Amino acid sequence: MTDRHECDVLVAGSGAGGFSAAITAAHAGLDVLMVEKEPLFGGTTAYSAGVVWIPMSEACVAAGLPDSPAETMRYLESEVGAFLDRPKAEAFVANAAPMLAFFERETHVRYLLMPSWSDYHPELPGASQGGRSLLPLPYDGRELGDRFRKLRPPIRTMMLFGGMSVSRDDIPHLLNFSRSGASAWHVAKLLLRYAYDRLGYPRGTRIANGNALIARMAKSAFEKDVALWLESPLLRLTQSGDRVTGAIVMHEGKEVDVVARRGVVLASGGFPASAEMRSRHYRHVAAGKNHQPLAPPGNTGDGARAAREVGGVMHVEQDQAAAWTPVSLVPQADGSTVPYPHFIDRCKPGYIAVDRRGRRFANEAESYHDFVQRLFAACEGDDVVEAWLVCDHRAIRRYGLGVVPPAPMPLGNHIRSGYLVRAGTPSELARKLGIDSAGFERTLARHNEFASRGEDPDFGKGTNAYHRFGGDPLHKPNPNIAPIATAPFYAVRLVPGDLGTFIGLSTDAHARVLDVNERPVPGLYAVGNDQASVMGGKYPGAGITIGPAMTFGYIAGRHIAGGG
Ligand SMILES: Cc1cc2nc3c(=O)[nH]c(=O)nc-3n(C[C@H](O)[C@H](O)[C@H](O)COP(=O)(O)OP(=O)(O)OC[C@H]3O[C@@H](n4cnc5c(N)ncnc54)[C@H](O)[C@@H]3O)c2cc1C
Repeated sequence: MTDRHECDVLVAGSGAGGFSAAITAAHAGLDVLMVEKEPLFGGTTAYSAGVVWIPMSEACVAAGLPDSPAETMRYLESEVGAFLDRPKAEAFVANAAPMLAFFERETHVRYLLMPSWSDYHPELPGASQGGRSLLPLPYDGRELGDRFRKLRPPIRTMMLFGGMSVSRDDIPHLLNFSRSGASAWHVAKLLLRYAYDRLGYPRGTRIANGNALIARMAKSAFEKDVALWLESPLLRLTQSGDRVTGAIVMHEGKEVDVVARRGVVLASGGFPASAEMRSRHYRHVAAGKNHQPLAPPGNTGDGARAAREVGGVMHVEQDQAAAWTPVSLVPQADGSTVPYPHFIDRCKPGYIAVDRRGRRFANEAESYHDFVQRLFAACEGDDVVEAWLVCDHRAIRRYGLGVVPPAPMPLGNHIRSGYLVRAGTPSELARKLGIDSAGFERTLARHNEFASRGEDPDFGKGTNAYHRFGGDPLHKPNPNIAPIATAPFYAVRLVPGDLGTFIGLSTDAHARVLDVNERPVPGLYAVGNDQASVMGGKYPGAGITIGPAMTFGYIAGRHIAGGG
């Protein structure tokens, strides 16, 4: 016999999209059940930096940074072009700031404005030179009580000492702790807190980034009596006539018939962990090439499958199928590898990326999404998509390389594991990497000739506000460029990865799932990466997946409650 459970709203998935819908509906007085397939909650959001792209936030307005809804739309029009879904984009722009204001006023969610974090294409019309991207404030995981142990930890390679969270805001302090008293004090406090935490917890309890966002959302949801069932996948939707009325959920070994009186929200995080869907939708994978997803294992497109069974359709017309990032693969003691996304190091002065011909193929300070598209093009005729990020001894000790931290931390363990390749000369490095040595030496000589003057005539590194944001402001004349000349030389191998999928269910401005005739499937919503990205497969700025995930979650929650 099937068990039965009744609620107003059923939300499948516990990332930013799911929590946003659940909290908004609960604040409107609705009885909400969240179901999560995995034993841990938080999804990809818990792995992420948690940054949101929210135009015209209260913090941005208070700081007096120039922006307007019209300027934001102008930027989206020029960035997204033919892929722009105007009604959805307008709904996002109109609701993003009110959404964040609601969360900051009514819940534990808190964000910090990053005034110099420019949009990724600051030269386009309507782009912001800083003010649309915000970073979550760190949080104390102990606020979750016993449920802290059920919060998905960050990707192992992204924590220090196997368990210490590092916020984007901590990084300048870590890089400058031997140069500045304030940074030394900041780092000392982090280390002391971490050492104390490890006496009682499997990881640090001062959590940052997407982990802090999810902890803050979870605390807020639990306070509003939102129920969260773990290890409880939504299996299929149930209907009465055309209307979705709930779902069959596997819970504690039994199929439970969950009746959702007001609506069902699919928030299962897209399909980055489905090998079958990747090979259908990722062009390089369809061509038999390599790919390394970063998402947790549960994100296998369940929301899309369930919606299609009741008439929902996928919107596949996106510029890119997913949000790309270059990753390196970090060997583990058990023989496996864990990916590390290269967000930070590429942009610092003294790093170039080369292909197997030893040639540069991209501006290393471009966004991760753009960089990987150049990598695809460079490897078009090759069997494998790969490149090597190269630097010299001065750079690696100053800024690190991938998971290799800067001085005074040792790097020998990374050489022994095979992650980091070191050589006394450029030609020896090329030989060890198996790339064209003459080509690499030519590239290096050309790079160094211009780098001494802070110039990059080939790719224009350091020529816009976004490049410079990722560089070292203390390095002159160009924060992104330095010669690579101090032996020994180092490299790590880069391969393509993704942060989540852009292709998703066709939805309207209220986050309702649409059928083949573009009519809403009654009672069914999709948010986060379960809906086709409002960015049309482009990557306009930091936070363009979680910003919309939270905004369309808020829109869905309000629409279900009858207020939106
Ligand atoms: C390292 C990294 C850094 C990133 N940084 C940023 C950033 O700073 N800003 C930004 O905007 N984006 C960032 N991203 C991308 C971002 O994390 C994702 O796009 C976003 O978190 C997706 O949110 P979501 O709510 O759609 O899904 P998720 O957060 O992935 O949550 C989906 C949940 O649904 C569960 N689920 C799956 N199937 C079912 C089912 N059948 N029933 C119930 N539950 C199910 C999954 O187990 C998962 O827990 C980053 C990604 C990575 C990997």
